[in-house]
Amino acid sequence: MAAEIRLFPCLSDNFGYLIHDPQTKATASIDAPEAGPVIEALEREGWNLTDILVTHHHQDHVGGIAELKRKYKCRVVAPYDNGTAIPEVDQRVKEGDTVKVGNLVARVLETPGHTLDHISYMFDAEHALFCADTLFSIGCGRVFEGTYPMMWDSLLKLRALPNDTRVYCGHEYTASNVKFALGIEPNNPALKKRAEDVARLRAANQPTIPVLLRDEKEANVFLRADVPAVAAALGMSGNTPAEVFGEIRERKNRS
Ligand code: ZN
Ligand code: FE
Repeated sequence: MAAEIRLFPCLSDNFGYLIHDPQTKATASIDAPEAGPVIEALEREGWNLTDILVTHHHQDHVGGIAELKRKYKCRVVAPYDNGTAIPEVDQRVKEGDTVKVGNLVARVLETPGHTLDHISYMFDAEHALFCADTLFSIGCGRVFEGTYPMMWDSLLKLRALPNDTRVYCGHEYTASNVKFALGIEPNNPALKKRAEDVARLRAANQPTIPVLLRDEKEANVFLRADVPAVAAALGMSGNTPAEVFGEIRERKNRS
């Protein structure tokens, strides 16, 4: 039986996610922005929380862990964060490790840049990527702790995943990302198509996630820093992709 995935809003613009294995009844929450909506989603489905898979130490991804752990006695899996920022950790994971949620298997990808500890979880059999604040739809996370080349490498690692991967990111930022990206690539047909879809979804109060990685590769300007036309649009034809990426990220910071 295939895994079941649920997404729901948390805090002001975070996504909460549950992934459930119908065979074993195991259920994981990807991050825990806050406990309330996670508990409501679990009760709606009649699921029991067995695991929390943490992506990075920011408060809007770990704020609900303590309460969920008290209530469900679930296992908390998290990256090595060189400190105590992530509460209640039972198991630390790094690149190449696998994490089981019942019979579901996630591969750990280190994707630093937004923070140094940031990891993503790839459920290969489910074609589902949980990448939190590394890759957003038509965007990427701010580079708070790492460097632009580091973040670019992380995005390349995610871009190399199969086209039919469904991307589940940490925030609903797509509409503002689309507006920004159109400023750089006003004539990119894939981006224009995404802009239409996003406008329709948001008007209907629907999430813009998940999105296929295939579509992001064509429409997400942050994944396209090595496309000559993108470098040219920024007047950076002689620069490295990491430099072009850094310029796009800085423009977004100022936008
Ligand atoms: Zn974050
Ligand atoms: Fe976040």
